[in-house]
Amino acid sequence: MNTLKSILCIALSLCTIFTLSAQKKSLKFHGKPDYYLECQSEALFKVADEGLDAFPPVVGAPIERRMALYTLDGLLHDTRNDNTEAFRSFVSSRVTKLLADLEKPLKRGMRIYKIYNEAFVVRTKSATIAFDLSRCRCRGHNDPIVPTELAEKIVAKCDALFLTHYHRDHVDSHIVDLFVKAGKPVIAAPNILADKAGVTHRRNEEGIDNFELKLKSGKALQVSIIPAIHGKVMNNIYVVTTPDKYTVCHTGDMSGKSNFKWIPTINEKVADIDALLVNCWTGSIAKAISGFDPRYVITGHENEMGHTIDHREAYWLSFTKLANIDYKYVVMAWGEWFTIK
Ligand SMILES: [Zn+2]
Ligand SMILES: [Zn+2]
Repeated sequence: MNTLKSILCIALSLCTIFTLSAQKKSLKFHGKPDYYLECQSEALFKVADEGLDAFPPVVGAPIERRMALYTLDGLLHDTRNDNTEAFRSFVSSRVTKLLADLEKPLKRGMRIYKIYNEAFVVRTKSATIAFDLSRCRCRGHNDPIVPTELAEKIVAKCDALFLTHYHRDHVDSHIVDLFVKAGKPVIAAPNILADKAGVTHRRNEEGIDNFELKLKSGKALQVSIIPAIHGKVMNNIYVVTTPDKYTVCHTGDMSGKSNFKWIPTINEKVADIDALLVNCWTGSIAKAISGFDPRYVITGHENEMGHTIDHREAYWLSFTKLANIDYKYVVMAWGEWFTIK
């Protein structure tokens, strides 16, 4: 009954939003199919945004939340919506809400924020760290997807940046410059901005690189780097333990069979992982997850707008792939967060 009520609520708010936005626009669509679709997409982006607020990330997901995510899948696989005003307003709304939460104090637990693609910010009481923070771009467009002003505010909240591999949707030199200028550590695979002063390049091809990373706050992170690959590209996997002993692992775009030489036993060689942030299209994802053996799995890289639509892996696809795994998993949209106790 509650579910039915929620579906009716979403449908009702869709009608309200459409009527409201249509007040400013003509409602005469005959002979104007492109205009009709533009108005419909605007209404759907808004209702998806509201649906995500009403049904925030949880393990698995109720039908209302999946409806909001699958609505986005439909919109983001129709390239007519790429870089449109409706698309940009949606991203801006999501990231603004995320930033508002990032500015509130966090007393306990580890909170994981998904900015966009595989850009995650992971925060505990004692440290806030960013992975693969990039503003990204829609395929064929030059405007940043994550508004620069909001991205800069996120950087200001972070203590360190980790970069997994040198692809444009993971590395943004403007963001790196901001970290360097602020004297905050940037850890990267050796081929990423190789000559840039202030970037610490680390990777040991022979095995795991373990070290302590001092933050400006005087506190320290314990870091392990696994020398993985992404096809033929070097891809550092980071396992990072905060001063309050929460451990997060970010896989970057780990892909390729040779990674499976070490994945099955990796949990014996690194700290126990609380949250595994894994690229949703990595090969044999269930097998990979059991190798890392985390408390929670959080997927990344869905609907990467720099890709063609066949490689914009949908949220529904992540749910389908994770449906039968023996781990707690959370599928998040952009501008959402989830707290692990
Ligand atoms: Zn990549
Ligand atoms: Zn990528």
